Amino acid sequence: MRRPFVVLFAALALPAVAPAQGDSTAAPDPIAQLVARLDLERYKATIKGLSNFGDRRQGTDRNRAAVDWIEAQLKSYGCSNVARIKYDYQPPSSPSPGGRGGQGVRLASGGGRYRGVRAQTGVNTDSLRQPDARVRALDAQASTPGAREEVYCTKIGTTHPGEMYIVGGHMDGIGWGEAANDDGSGTALVIELARVFSSADVRTDRSIRFILWNNEETGLNGSRAYVEQRRALQGTKDEPKWLGMIQHDMMLFDHGMPRADGTLPPEQRPEADVNIEFQASAKLAAEAEQLAWTFERANEKYATDYPASVGSHMTNTDSAPFQDYVPAISLRENERGTQIGAGWDPNWHQPTDLYATYSDKDFRLGLNAAQTTLGAIAGLVGATIQ
Ligand SMILES: [Zn+2]
Repeated sequence: MRRPFVVLFAALALPAVAPAQGDSTAAPDPIAQLVARLDLERYKATIKGLSNFGDRRQGTDRNRAAVDWIEAQLKSYGCSNVARIKYDYQPPSSPSPGGRGGQGVRLASGGGRYRGVRAQTGVNTDSLRQPDARVRALDAQASTPGAREEVYCTKIGTTHPGEMYIVGGHMDGIGWGEAANDDGSGTALVIELARVFSSADVRTDRSIRFILWNNEETGLNGSRAYVEQRRALQGTKDEPKWLGMIQHDMMLFDHGMPRADGTLPPEQRPEADVNIEFQASAKLAAEAEQLAWTFERANEKYATDYPASVGSHMTNTDSAPFQDYVPAISLRENERGTQIGAGWDPNWHQPTDLYATYSDKDFRLGLNAAQTTLGAIAGLVGATIQ
């Protein structure tokens, strides 16, 4: 009985596949063409460029130099109307306790439930735990309170310029490393998307703002400043109406759950995924969930290696200040609350968050997130190639 079935399947499979591959008259999918303009080596080079500024802690010369470098990248790609948000940051007088989420806490940040093995997390504040003298020197200057800036640029839509999606990542980091993953990986993703969409032959119906938040690590102060300064301006000549906000924060490392001894597998797990999260308690949770599934479908269609998962516990990143005003989601290597919060990323806020820590399998997860967001956004803004 087996052999006839094999023959039957082969006969059925051929006509279904052959015309799709062989029909040269079918119009090529412009979104697939745009996604193909992303490249692993370019993505890695942008992360490397950011890691040259060390951890880019807010309120330091290395942070300001990184903002200038990002601005230069955006300008070099022809992204129009490069501009800056300016605000003032004063740290709270009594610092909040270090580490996020104690080991005894039952509910994870964002509302999810911890499951399985958990490992220690926290923020490294000890310079001597950075063994590389070069990186230690790079990260030596302390933060001072005061004026802050963050940079953005905008792809102007052709038919609906006054409506835009906001695509963000945070450029500041902490921990005495190079903040290569947190959040050089998300920042580089946003810069690479700005490059592709700013190409002279790309047209979009609606606008896209690419923004690199500052002061995420101190409590989302840069994105809060944006919401406070711009929310009421929507629909005027000074600010397009917001259609959605998509944040990218830690895109590289999904080696799975900590093992029983608290260590992590050294290799990216083959079943690694891009975690797309919305927040179930947001005023616009239903719309954000819908946006999340739009991204999941884009991943199915355009991502080359890794799948995406949708979760309902978006938290602790720059999409949070937006979530009650506009559909807001985040893309990450793991769920922020239940997985990163349970120690799934041993480099998080640590001296080991260095460019050299990650392999191509890690960088490729970030590239797949870029393919996901590019594919989804291109569809949402009606992108075409002229
Ligand atoms: Zn982060």
